[in-house]
Amino acid sequence: MLRVDVLKISGKQVPHFRRRLLAWFAGRKRDLPWRRTSDPYRIWISEIMLQQTRVAAVIPYYKQFVAKFPSMRALARARTETVLGRWAGLGYYSRARNLHRTAKEIVARHGGLFPRGYEATLALPGIGRYTAAAVLSIAYGQALAVLDGNVARVLARIGAVPGDLRAPALWRELETTAQNLLAVQAPGDWNQAMMELGAMVCTPKSPRCEQCPVARWCRARKLAIADQLPAKRIKRATQQVTLAAAVILDSRGRTLLVRQNNGDGALFSRMWQFPALETTGNAAAELTLYLHTNFKFALDGNFTPLKTARHFVTFRNIRLEPFLIRVARLPRIKGARTVALGRLGNLPISNATRKIVHAALEATSSPQWREL
Ligand code: SF4
Repeated sequence: MLRVDVLKISGKQVPHFRRRLLAWFAGRKRDLPWRRTSDPYRIWISEIMLQQTRVAAVIPYYKQFVAKFPSMRALARARTETVLGRWAGLGYYSRARNLHRTAKEIVARHGGLFPRGYEATLALPGIGRYTAAAVLSIAYGQALAVLDGNVARVLARIGAVPGDLRAPALWRELETTAQNLLAVQAPGDWNQAMMELGAMVCTPKSPRCEQCPVARWCRARKLAIADQLPAKRIKRATQQVTLAAAVILDSRGRTLLVRQNNGDGALFSRMWQFPALETTGNAAAELTLYLHTNFKFALDGNFTPLKTARHFVTFRNIRLEPFLIRVARLPRIKGARTVALGRLGNLPISNATRKIVHAALEATSSPQWREL
């Protein structure tokens, strides 16, 4: 019988361990919308949405998304803008773009059905080992174990494994461990049970060991070091960034949006945004020069600072410094899009752009602006 080495659980004990965890999951699992289906399309959507996003935040987006695009074919047929519109606010927009590309590819190459093969699944845009294993195990019952941060933490604590779990050699070892531990008769439930344990009981801070169904096998608990594991990763230092943005507004309340492909474009997820640049000194002066150099747009001095906002993206703490620029007529900028400021909320825009829109609307609806 297989011994799960990293965990130091004997082969004899492994079946008990599995039974305990599966029974706990059957009785305690949260009722989540994507757990009421075995449709691989819906499970895949939920898995992509859940990447780096909390369950509570995902639920309303998931419901709206599958109501709007109830099938792989419906998603593949949709316009990118429509898909991004349903994603707006959820962040990490490359996920939505990949989702859309993948749906088209699945319709073109797999007859609209999510593939069953692991390699074929990995070949799809935006699908890595975790997502492939999650969808294939939950939807098709394939014996593939998932390893994400939650599962890795649970395994590291049970085995009292020291070190940086994301170090490639250790991560591979954990993948092997997760696969050896998998309950092959119920891989979908097993994977969800491991993730649920990590999310609800074996939490990053203050694990609830007294409620844990597998506590008797846990070495970290025995050694009283559960809250010290996994070892802290050395965090990348937070980078402070200032971004100046131009809300160019004409007398009819229309503004200009562009798609930037430089570093600032990455912040706005290559979605429609106000012309913007990262500044290190005088934001207004640098923005003026930027607009002139890049868009041949000369300002006539009507340049008003708007309320600043904060925006956080991974290790970047961004100060958004928007400026309102009143013009009689919008300049012609190649590839730009003209939109009424008040209707911008209906477009697929990033949260950073949304904050700028908010500041601009707040300022332009004040009595001072209404008079102009
Ligand atoms: Fe995590 Fe505590 Fe359970 Fe160990 S006993 S797996 S540390 S919750």
